[in-house]
Amino acid sequence: MVITHTHPDHVGSLGDVIFYSYYILKHKPTIFFPQKELIEKFLTSIGVSTEMYNLNSNNVEAINDMKLGDFSIDFMPVSHVDTIPAYGFIMKLNGSVFYYSGDANGISNTIVDKLKNGHICRIYQDTCGLDYEGNAHLSLRKLCDTIPHEFRNKVYCMHLDKNITAEDIKHNGFNVVDIYK
Ligand SMILES: [Zn+2]
Ligand SMILES: [Zn+2]
Repeated sequence: MVITHTHPDHVGSLGDVIFYSYYILKHKPTIFFPQKELIEKFLTSIGVSTEMYNLNSNNVEAINDMKLGDFSIDFMPVSHVDTIPAYGFIMKLNGSVFYYSGDANGISNTIVDKLKNGHICRIYQDTCGLDYEGNAHLSLRKLCDTIPHEFRNKVYCMHLDKNITAEDIKHNGFNVVDIYK
């Protein structure tokens, strides 16, 4: 499990997932998150002890997972809120490279450049309809300012708010992440 930040819509059920994995599946899950103390404190405070999971807080080089295959994770800090740290990451998975924003109100030039020069083939970006100064999420207007038209088909919008529709996003040339139910 890759954790980008500790807002409740992202880690609210993390304790349950670990319990389920540990007690029912008899499997010790691995959690990836750059800030070891923070996630340990959070989990300890909800009764999840450190022997129930493995924690990896470094960038991950070339892991070979039986189910996933070869992957690496490269975390980078993103701008989201002032109260807690938030990270996006570049994942290499079986030869293909993508960027996942987590919750973030911007995309760094480094990431945009990598998209333009082909080092990243896909971006998953937190996108919202509301557009105001100090927004914790990235408005569609800012996303349009950041990504030139010819690269928009490589951008997948997610974490949408109530003020945006899939049509608004597709109309501007981006994709919307499908939710599997
Ligand atoms: Zn969120
Ligand atoms: Zn958040």
